[in-house]
Amino acid sequence: MRFTIYMLLIYLSFPVLSQVDRCSFDEYRQILKNRGLYKECKNYSSQYYSMQDTYTIPVVVHILYNNDGQNISDERVYSQIEVLNQDYSASNMSLDNIPDEFQDVIGEVGFAFCLVQKDLDGNDFSGINRVYTEVESFNMSDDAMKRSSEGGVDAWDSENYLNFWVCNLSGNLLGFATMPGDVSAELDGVVVDYEYFGVDLSSSSPYNLGRTATHEVGHYFNLEHTFYAGCSDWDSCDDTPSISSPTYGCPEFPQESCNSIDMTMNYMDYTNDACMHMFSSCQAELMIDALLTYRPNLIAAEDCSVSIDENTYTNDIFIHPNPVLDKIFLSIEKSSIYLYDIYGREILSNYYLDKDFLDVSFLHSGTYIIIIDNYIQKFIKR
Ligand SMILES: [Zn+2]
Repeated sequence: MRFTIYMLLIYLSFPVLSQVDRCSFDEYRQILKNRGLYKECKNYSSQYYSMQDTYTIPVVVHILYNNDGQNISDERVYSQIEVLNQDYSASNMSLDNIPDEFQDVIGEVGFAFCLVQKDLDGNDFSGINRVYTEVESFNMSDDAMKRSSEGGVDAWDSENYLNFWVCNLSGNLLGFATMPGDVSAELDGVVVDYEYFGVDLSSSSPYNLGRTATHEVGHYFNLEHTFYAGCSDWDSCDDTPSISSPTYGCPEFPQESCNSIDMTMNYMDYTNDACMHMFSSCQAELMIDALLTYRPNLIAAEDCSVSIDENTYTNDIFIHPNPVLDKIFLSIEKSSIYLYDIYGREILSNYYLDKDFLDVSFLHSGTYIIIIDNYIQKFIKR
């Protein structure tokens, strides 16, 4: 009898697992088309920016909560930004898990995400917009989370900010996003269920490491799923082999379909968070192109900095290389330095440097502020 109940429990658990929608991007696009909200003819900006190694993307995170559990901590939000920064700079610890077959096509996108440090009125701001809502759960089909009149919160100008809406999504959805030009500005951005935003090691979910946002931001920068159109391979990238269908769980390597080895560890497949590790080179190029061509106004690093007094800003002291991987060299030596992260948190205080370089290999990837003899410089750690 006990065995029978056990088997019944196992049986019942499978439909629950299979009902989780890893990503609802394709369904959401169809909903937009059905509602007449999808722009078949898109207007793109023709503004031109020169290519560079790193682009800073200002982020505002709207947390819609109906109870304390949905009101996730600042630390969860910070962890999500760190995951994005590591994944989009190909500096995540799990790169070693990528098989030799795909090591040569690991894509380094070069996007640095940061929480905006000023609100729309120019006041100091955390980048985290917490809004209580009477809505217990939000449906993907009506976009209420994106409208304050319907219990959500209005987008910040989506040409200038990447808007995240973090809320309780009904129907076991993890998240969905809009591609550039898909919709009108007030609907543009990324929606992630609060349970899957950021790193939550106390969760037993296989989607607890922040890769839902990594995946959805891929759509936001114009990436399709790697399995889009199956073996017809319509994801616009030759270096992501065609794959017949989404991959769930954490498959053994290699898996094959469409007469090739599947890149199941690509962020744009559907595997568990712990088992996706890379964008491809082509995907990185597509996203950079999407940023420069369709979302150029996002490139606004100053919105992300802790406030810098213009009077003390100078180039008299310079640092290189920038972005930096391990050692940052200074044009002066023997000086005291202060180091802050992008949120203004102090990392080094009055640290005496007796040489002309600082070893920054201990830092996570992201944007940092270094102050040397009252001179302020910003640098990017890869
Ligand atoms: Zn997706």
